Amino acid sequence: MALRTLDSLGSLAGKRVIVRVDFNVPLKDGVITDDGRVRAALPTIDHLIGQGARVIACSHLGRPDGAPDPKYSLEPVAQRLSELLGKPVAFAGDTVGESAEQVVAALADGDVAVIENLRFNPGETAKDAGERRAFAEQLASLGDALVSDGFGVVHRKQASVYDLAELLPSAAGYLIEKEVEVLDRLTENPERPYAVVLGGSKVSDKLGVIEHLLPRADKILVGGGMLFTFLAALGHKVGKSLLEADQLETVKGYIATAQERGVELVLPVDAVMASGFAADADHVVAAADALEDTAFGAEGMGLDIGPKSAELFADAIRSSRTVFWNGPMGVFEMPAFAAGTRAVAQALTEVDGLSVVGGGDSAAAVRQLGFDDAAFGHISTGGGASLEFLEGKKLPGLEVLGWA
Ligand code: ADP
Ligand code: MG
Repeated sequence: MALRTLDSLGSLAGKRVIVRVDFNVPLKDGVITDDGRVRAALPTIDHLIGQGARVIACSHLGRPDGAPDPKYSLEPVAQRLSELLGKPVAFAGDTVGESAEQVVAALADGDVAVIENLRFNPGETAKDAGERRAFAEQLASLGDALVSDGFGVVHRKQASVYDLAELLPSAAGYLIEKEVEVLDRLTENPERPYAVVLGGSKVSDKLGVIEHLLPRADKILVGGGMLFTFLAALGHKVGKSLLEADQLETVKGYIATAQERGVELVLPVDAVMASGFAADADHVVAAADALEDTAFGAEGMGLDIGPKSAELFADAIRSSRTVFWNGPMGVFEMPAFAAGTRAVAQALTEVDGLSVVGGGDSAAAVRQLGFDDAAFGHISTGGGASLEFLEGKKLPGLEVLGWA
């Protein structure tokens, strides 16, 4: 079944519309260090303002313990939203209490308010369905309709994500609509050749994605910390590199499945071996089958794919029509080990087709390395949600909007 989209709600002029967004931005000493998530919510909020709706934006921020905690207040986010919209944004100091009711009652058509952090209320994330529902009913009393647009939380069965969408007329906003459209293309009928590039720290975090995408992809490229478990599965020594010994059999299974299905498994042919896990560690390039043959011997630690691998990966990416990339190729946070990630990101920008970056750290990496978001087909805003979608899991926050 198809996702209910904004137009299914009809005219929203004069209506109180709750927008469940993902304003879970990184904060440092009360200052937003990356407002990407606030910007991602703008198309939907702008549209609602244009319709003359009375907009009530709500979100979680961080992990407060079901009680108010000034550290996690959404007030700085409301301010940032006001700057980005170029108009005043009212702020309610509570989520469903008196302040919220007053702020909502004072809204005129086209006005915007932000209510305080949903997770200041234990009902938002309660395991108990009744408790969750009771909180959702309080939220529902603030609005006439719900636009759900917090893609980053659609894998969570939470009051504002799931129950509220059952209580009010509800539809997906533009962000969720775009995410679902793109991620669906990565699982159903991708234009071929289709390459999946995986990295990051651990294989064990990505097992579901590998299992679901392996039979769908033409090529699987493996970098990041997980590559060492693959090399070890092929019988190579990896020194002190990240190795998940308990995943060796699983990885051997993937290698066999790829072979059986004619999926090209592209593994690094070289890696950057370092004397330790530090930005200023000594480092050299070693062949993938001789990682311990450096001055560091068995003490060496692989922190990036090597230059030959970067070239190999870039070629495989550029020659594909659909590319999904999740997980940095190396410890990109340290400049000495960012080259592989940079090369892969660059290649994605050159794809003639659809290129998608998924994963919180991968998205942070492309921005930190100076790439423009617009250079990619899509940068997914949902870390866990995107991965679960690509694992083929049912996501409660999407099912409740008609997606099946
Ligand atoms: P994402 O959030 O994009 O899904 P992950 O959380 O799986 O990505 O992994 C990101 C982390 O993986 C980064 O912090 C990076 O430093 C780390 N990483 C990448 N390559 C290595 C490596 N060879 N050794 C150790 N850590 C690595
Ligand atoms: Mg991560």
